[in-house]
Amino acid sequence: MTAQRSPTETVHVIGAGLAGSEAAWQIASAGIAVVLHEMRPHRMTEAHRTEGLAELVCSNSFRSDDAANNAVGLLHAEMRRLGSLIMRAADANQVPAGGALAVDRDGFSAAVTKALGDHPLIEIDRAEIAGLPPAEWDNVIVATGPLTSAPLADAVRQLTDENALAFFDAIAPIVHKESIDMSVAWFQSRYDKVGPGGSGADYINDAFVDALLAGEKVDFKDWETSTPYFDGCLPVEVMAERGRETLRHGPMKPVGLTNPRDPTVKPYAIVQLRQDNKLGTLYNIVGFQTKLKHGAQQRVFRTIPGLEHAEFARLGGLHRNTFLNSPKLLDQQLRLRAQPRLRFAGQMTGCEGYVESASIGLIAGLYAAANARAQQLAPPPSTTALGSLLGHITGGHIETVDAGPRSFQPMNINFGLFPPLATPPTKKPDGTRLRGNEKTVAKKQAMSARALADIDRWIADHLRVAAAA
Ligand SMILES: Cc1cc2nc3c(=O)[nH]c(=O)nc-3n(C[C@H](O)[C@H](O)[C@H](O)COP(=O)(O)OP(=O)(O)OC[C@H]3O[C@@H](n4cnc5c(N)ncnc54)[C@H](O)[C@@H]3O)c2cc1C
Repeated sequence: MTAQRSPTETVHVIGAGLAGSEAAWQIASAGIAVVLHEMRPHRMTEAHRTEGLAELVCSNSFRSDDAANNAVGLLHAEMRRLGSLIMRAADANQVPAGGALAVDRDGFSAAVTKALGDHPLIEIDRAEIAGLPPAEWDNVIVATGPLTSAPLADAVRQLTDENALAFFDAIAPIVHKESIDMSVAWFQSRYDKVGPGGSGADYINDAFVDALLAGEKVDFKDWETSTPYFDGCLPVEVMAERGRETLRHGPMKPVGLTNPRDPTVKPYAIVQLRQDNKLGTLYNIVGFQTKLKHGAQQRVFRTIPGLEHAEFARLGGLHRNTFLNSPKLLDQQLRLRAQPRLRFAGQMTGCEGYVESASIGLIAGLYAAANARAQQLAPPPSTTALGSLLGHITGGHIETVDAGPRSFQPMNINFGLFPPLATPPTKKPDGTRLRGNEKTVAKKQAMSARALADIDRWIADHLRVAAAA
């Protein structure tokens, strides 16, 4: 892109966390002036401890760095190809962690802070935006994260509707469809309502309730205890504590369902699995939001008939979170339909994790830069990690007849979000047949290779062309 600019081109980015920092970097790298507004240190969040930009609030891991076999490793690779500041700072501050990319958190944050502070097109404004941004800012990215300050969160909620901004994140586990034993589970909508429902195993036993009650729970942080649960999304183990029958009158109620393999016996309780993405590769366990520790979840949920070999795309959890019902509220370029000058990025859009948040900051930054130039940017291909995550946020999640008023939940990147391969690999390079787990490995590797080829093509066709314009 050329270097001419006018004051009206200035992009305002609110929040200098993982997403906002990356967005500001991408915009400035495209030759557009940015003001990056960060409220720390004047106002801190419940989890941040420093005034550094892109502070990691908990673990120091960016998870697997294996681009050939792991979806988050693939996202790292795509971001590096797109000149990501977050990845550059992570690579420069790596600490030994096997196949994972873990970083020295202070060195990482210092590197991001310095790169942004030194950039001639970036101004850092240490102030809270305590309400809707001024009307004259016509190209804004809101990247204020899961702990967005209350005045801004309230203003966004008023712009949308009361239910559209969640303040407690109730996460139910999600399983890969191919790991569900379909000789036990069956497809049926409750009362055979027309719609894409699904149902799972056909009974619950007392051992399951006991296991839930005994399972190790994650402790609440102090600030989490003062935030109420949403009605209707109590953790499954809290429901079990209220009485041994509670679950079978709640998320495990068997009414309206008949096991086709044993139609004369009414199930005592059932577990329902609901399709979670348009592709139909992922299913969530309906109503099973939980604070059980991850190990306990895998152990307890694999006692459910049909889920003995379940592979989890995401495990359940519950913590305060602020995120939009993005498929409803945002357009495909992450702009608020109700006020398109406001674009959202990071965890607020319904992705989960440091890397995912930064990647959505990256694409939001590219869109904002294209807007400032009055150019259109084609979306990244859905076959890429970036494109599939963006697709999940802006429309991949489906609503079902049983879904209730709100069902969109934050998501880490995983291969279940990618479209299937046209021709999945069946043979090894030496011509012998792939067996068992070899097939899964070969499939992931083929998806990764497809993604990297497609992101390279997209960069060459759209970003290099834009840069030359
Ligand atoms: C308690 C907790 C633990 C977590 N642990 C992990 C983990 O271990 N691993 C992982 O991958 N992810 C973890 N996450 C998720 C993680 O926070 C996000 O993935 C990531 O930090 C989100 O990036 P973001 O840029 O959207 O938000 P953030 O990184 O939180 O950045 C938002 C920024 O906006 C600023 N801000 C807020 N409101 C305003 C305002 N009104 N005006 C100006 N500035 C404002 C904040 O100070 C902050 O700097 C955790 C989240 C929480 C809440």
